[in-house]
Amino acid sequence: MNYIILDLEWDGAFYPKIGGFINQILQIGAVKLNDNFDIIDTFDTIIKSSFSKRVSKRFSELTGITKKEMLSGIPLSDAFIAYNAWVGDDAVTMTWSNSDIYTVFENEKKLLDGIHLRIDKYIDLQKYIQGEMKLLGIECNSQISLLNAANTLGIEVDKSTLHNAKADSMVGAAILKKHYNKDRFNAMVYDTSDPDFFARFTFKPYYITDIDDENIDKSQFDFKCPVCGKTLLVRKNWHSRFGGFCAEMLCEHCEKTYSASVKFRKMFDSVRVRRRLNEKKPKQESENST
Ligand SMILES: [Zn+2]
Repeated sequence: MNYIILDLEWDGAFYPKIGGFINQILQIGAVKLNDNFDIIDTFDTIIKSSFSKRVSKRFSELTGITKKEMLSGIPLSDAFIAYNAWVGDDAVTMTWSNSDIYTVFENEKKLLDGIHLRIDKYIDLQKYIQGEMKLLGIECNSQISLLNAANTLGIEVDKSTLHNAKADSMVGAAILKKHYNKDRFNAMVYDTSDPDFFARFTFKPYYITDIDDENIDKSQFDFKCPVCGKTLLVRKNWHSRFGGFCAEMLCEHCEKTYSASVKFRKMFDSVRVRRRLNEKKPKQESENST
C-alpha cells in the first residue's frame, strides 16, 4: 500500500465558454510514501491554462509561479494522465481539506473531456489531523491551515517554499508520519469506487424547515412531562423557528407549561434529531398571556 499526499494550486480565472469564473488547476504536486511514511517519490508539474494567458497577482505571489512558467506548462489533460500513471495501483490519496477534491471535480466537469484524476481511496488529511490534535488536547479551529498545524505540532517548515504544491505535500507527509494511527486513519478512508461516493462527498447537511418534509419523523413531536410522565398537550401549534420547530406544551396533570423544540438535521443517509423541553416559568407565562 502506498500513500499519496496530493496538493493542487489553482487560480480563479474568467472562462468565456461558461461565462463565469473557474478555479483552474495550474500546479499538481504530490509525494508518494511507503508503509513507513517515508517519501519514496515525488510528482510536480505546472499546467498551462487552456483559455487564459495570465495568472493573477495573488496566485503568483502565493505560489511563486510566474505567467511565463504557467505558459510553458503542459495541458491539464496531459498532467492528469501523467499523474495517473505515477500514482499506480493500491494507493490512498490524501489532500489537506477536501477543497482540492472539489476543484478536481470542477475542472474535470468544465475543462476536461472524460479524463479523471486517479483517486481510488481518499482521506481528508486536515480532518484526520484535527481529530488527532483534539485527542492530544490541542484546541484548533475547524479549518486549520497546513502551516498552523505544522507549527502547533512542532514540524519544521521552510516558509519560503510554502504554497508550492510539492513542498506543501512534504509538510503534510511529515505531519502524518508523526501522527499516524492505523485504526483512526483507516476509519476515515473513503472508497471512491462506491457509487454513492460523489453524492456522499458533496452532500451538505442541512436543517429541515418544512414540517411536511418526508424526512421528518412526526413521532419526534411527542413529548412527555418530565415530572409525571404523562403525554403533553400541544397548546400552541408547532411552527418553524431557528432552523427547527417549536411549540408550547402543557401537562394537564401538573399544570406546567413547557416550550418544546425539535431540530432535524438531514445527513446524507440519516436524519439527526435534537429535542429539547424546558419548563416555562410562571412569571414568563403571565408575561406571555398579557
Ligand atoms: Zn406532568
